[in-house]
Amino acid sequence: MQPLLFNQTIGILGGGQLGKMMGMVVKRMGFQLAIFEEQENSPAAQIADFSIVGHFTDKNQLKKFAKISNIITYEFENIPIETIEYLKSIGANIPQGTKPLQVAQNRADEKKFINDLKFKTVPYIYLKNYQEFLLQIKQFGYPAILKTCRMGYDGKGQITLHAAKDNLKAQKLLNEQPCVLEKKISFQKEFSVLCFRSILGETTCLPVVENIHHNSILHQSIVPAQISKKTSAIIEKIATDFVKKAQFIGTIAIEFFYIDDENILFNEIAPRPHNSGHFSIEACLQSQFELHIKSIMGIPFGKNSLVSTVVMTNILGQHIPFVQNNLYKKYNYPVYFHVYGKKEAKENRKMGHITILGQQINKLQKLGNEIISKNVK
Ligand code: ADP
Ligand code: MG
Repeated sequence: MQPLLFNQTIGILGGGQLGKMMGMVVKRMGFQLAIFEEQENSPAAQIADFSIVGHFTDKNQLKKFAKISNIITYEFENIPIETIEYLKSIGANIPQGTKPLQVAQNRADEKKFINDLKFKTVPYIYLKNYQEFLLQIKQFGYPAILKTCRMGYDGKGQITLHAAKDNLKAQKLLNEQPCVLEKKISFQKEFSVLCFRSILGETTCLPVVENIHHNSILHQSIVPAQISKKTSAIIEKIATDFVKKAQFIGTIAIEFFYIDDENILFNEIAPRPHNSGHFSIEACLQSQFELHIKSIMGIPFGKNSLVSTVVMTNILGQHIPFVQNNLYKKYNYPVYFHVYGKKEAKENRKMGHITILGQQINKLQKLGNEIISKNVK
């Protein structure tokens, strides 16, 4: 495929912050930006040339979107498969296709796909309903985590089961939809790797990220991860092998549980840029959004490297009053504020993030924590 001409338009399905940050690269490169959003004035639409508002099932609106977009990608992993199939049927160019979405939209399919390619996951079983749960739980044992197959994020749609007394909670979740039951494991650390595979067949990864979660929501990402060179090389190799074997196109974010060098387990994958890759906007020569756009457009990736030690801290709804105040303080580090433009600041909703570059990780973590949770002096 020829690279696009500059008067052409890139369409993004989904209007969230990932679409906005992808869109900022699209705009910088001189292309036009179209956003398909379910609700008007979404973060991504705020910077777009065109916005089409509609449900992902609204064929009339999808037709309009396809008409103005020369190439289409997605920023949201729960786009219905039928939406992509419909867009393709009317001639739209969607290089990533449906495969990465199909796999990532269902935790049971995702784990099976990973295991079929000979990569390790946490021990798990698929459960259709509560009857199956009751038959299996004794043998499976506690502690375990029950997760809905579909639509879970930021710890939503999952519960921890410590003992039989928690079974009623399991019943509630299983009445909603099929689930996977996972062993609750103890790991040393959580890591993620952002990988990219382009329509040219080229692959590349960003450095391993160390992630700290609070209440199952990503709190901070640290790069370089605080592990040996050997361990980081092993993780990078697993990630690269996976992307090559899976043959997906675009961004593939992989979350890992690290037990030891022989036991590095896949937690989940996301077929889109990922919160834990935001550090790359300022700390890498090329960000995850840059590499994503290149991967779908067939632009060679070129050289990339980490330019600084970095800590990214998420801004949730409850942090907003402190962040507003602290934006005006003077810091001895470069502190980059990113605010997504969501209208309502709900508790635990991701509203933005802060990236701080420096040398000493503990100082960067401390400053990130202060900026979101108190008034910095
Ligand atoms: P989400 O889609 O909400 O990110 P995850 O499956 O990644 O769902 O779970 C969120 C977090 O919960 C993980 O990052 C990890 O900290 C914790 N967690 C999830 N599964 C397990 C498990 N099997 N054992 C121990 N901790 C887990
Ligand atoms: Mg996760």
